[in-house]
Amino acid sequence: MKHYAIIGHPIAHSLSPLMHNRAFEILGRKARYDAHDILPEELSTTVARLTEEGIAGFNVTIPHKHAILSSLATIDEAAQQIGAVNTVVNRDGLLFGTNTDAYGVFQSLAPFADRIRQANVLMIGAGGSARAVLFSLLKDFAPSEITIATRTIAKAEALALHFQPLAPGIPIRTFTASKDVLNTLIGSATLVINTSPVGMAPHDTASPLPAGIGIRPDQVVFDLIYTPLQTTLLRDAAAAGATAIGGLEMLLHQGARSFEIWTGERMPLDQIRPLVTEALRSRTH
Ligand code: NAP
Repeated sequence: MKHYAIIGHPIAHSLSPLMHNRAFEILGRKARYDAHDILPEELSTTVARLTEEGIAGFNVTIPHKHAILSSLATIDEAAQQIGAVNTVVNRDGLLFGTNTDAYGVFQSLAPFADRIRQANVLMIGAGGSARAVLFSLLKDFAPSEITIATRTIAKAEALALHFQPLAPGIPIRTFTASKDVLNTLIGSATLVINTSPVGMAPHDTASPLPAGIGIRPDQVVFDLIYTPLQTTLLRDAAAAGATAIGGLEMLLHQGARSFEIWTGERMPLDQIRPLVTEALRSRTH
């Protein structure tokens, strides 16, 4: 029986065990996927133990996505650029790390690629997930400009500095997110992406955009949050006739990509999607 896992803290709410174990079952694979709640000070010893025990691969989540780098033998370009690893493969005792979050972003936005090419992008938030979003936007979509609006401007500036060399022809601008700034920036944006936790349960009534802001029907609004599935931002976008994309597809595709890297088989997403959707619905009702 092959062993896979996710390590993070806290980890009790992770949907990864549900996704992967059901996928193994559907495909008739003898494998199991566990969740390990690991504190930062336990990370390196736990990873060493799991490797010693022959774990085939594991996911890494908050707060270990950066700290894991020192336990790995190699990482690929995506993980290097994003500065975070969420998927590890055990290759005969040597650990290889990659990042499938950007693939999840790519899969979420790919159906709208024609509208994103040469478009202005407004991204709210400058934390961990913003890094995967920037990587995918710059590598996969060629927008004309990206504007980061966030709470702590220094974080946005650090991101801009880090990612600008990936695509020097696509300017990355930074602003402190205020009502006035957002009101102005939304006017020229075609794609609006929320990478901040504003609107996440239990604060479902909050939105990262000021109340009454004019969302237009030609805009695409992508909210990374998946609890709730329908955020206030997505509801406002849909009510304005805009295209609204939630965080569920990103969640599913990052997991599906890890699964494929480990097993060489596609995760049966048509069967996994309703399962995860139901688990999320029951959690927020
Ligand atoms: P994070 O590392 O804590 O970053 C959040 C960022 O949002 C920070 O830069 C923070 O600013 C900023 N922010 C907070 N409040 C703000 C506000 N009112 N206006 C503007 N910016 C604000 O969090 P994360 O890991 O990136 O996760 C963010 C969200 O994405 C979470 O809801 C998470 O569940 C979701 N997510 C979804 C997926 C998926 O697969 N769909 C994957 C990853 C994350 P400060 O620096 O000042 O705190």
